[in-house]
Amino acid sequence: MRFGRHLSNTPKGLQEAQSIGCDAIQVFLTNPRGWAAPAHNPALVKAFRAAAERYGQSPVVVHAAYLINLASPRPEIFDKSVTLLRATLERASLYGASSVVFHVGSATGTGEEAGLERLVAGVRQVMTGAPEDVMLLLENDTGGGGKVGYRFENLALVLAALPEFGARLGVCLDTAHLWAAGYDIGTPAGARAVLDQADSIIGLDRVPVLHVNDAREACGSHRDIHARIGEGMIPVEGLTAFLRDPRVAHTTGILETPIPTLAEDNNAPDWAAERAHMALARSVAGLAMPPLPALVASDEPDAEDDAPVTHAG
Ligand SMILES: [Zn+2]
Ligand SMILES: [Zn+2]
Repeated sequence: MRFGRHLSNTPKGLQEAQSIGCDAIQVFLTNPRGWAAPAHNPALVKAFRAAAERYGQSPVVVHAAYLINLASPRPEIFDKSVTLLRATLERASLYGASSVVFHVGSATGTGEEAGLERLVAGVRQVMTGAPEDVMLLLENDTGGGGKVGYRFENLALVLAALPEFGARLGVCLDTAHLWAAGYDIGTPAGARAVLDQADSIIGLDRVPVLHVNDAREACGSHRDIHARIGEGMIPVEGLTAFLRDPRVAHTTGILETPIPTLAEDNNAPDWAAERAHMALARSVAGLAMPPLPALVASDEPDAEDDAPVTHAG
């Protein structure tokens, strides 16, 4: 299992990822709360790809904007969603990303069946003619509010309705969303039973990415509030069994948890604390921290006069 977290789509984000113990990263490529894809910037893309290589971050997973709702009954929302998700896939291909994760959306009062029909039609529009080197992943959601992605059956229905895209279409499972939707992964037996269901209904071979989050509210609450691993309501022994199950060994785990901040430093990110959290999360998944890179010797003859370079952030 590769393991990382959500950070910024810049060389600095990739360097931070390496320094806190990631070997994979998730990024936004567009404003997550807007409809516009920013102008294509080839220089930024080139710098990002070089930095992903330099800092050993692979795969790169892209999270699409939150406004996207392919299950929406409103034609203008549906159309904007198709356009933005397609643009995100195209942009993700340029960035060398392996997949784009998106929230499958809400039928907003029109019923699940109609919402799923629109979702299938929307995914078909997005994928037809899209770059073939990037997967599109439907993320499971918490249910409530007309959200249609809370049941494995609903996600599987979309995959089954679109066989023409084969393995380019898949699912991202978020542990906090599973919990909030009522899938009790809080015990080893519960975690195994949920994975049994996911495997028989979706097929875990169709799940290349896990969002690894603890949840602040109770199982079945339908509330989507992420907590750091061990600080929420999901018992660690359940998460441990879930993440160490051999059937998810091929996945990439991504934390989408709040980064600790330094009150005494204008709430700047506390990367040392996040590195400790990453070490904890990785150990829950049965993973060691990746080795820190060796310090690169400088060619400069007077380098010994400089302060030592550290990569530990
Ligand atoms: Zn997620
Ligand atoms: Zn969430």
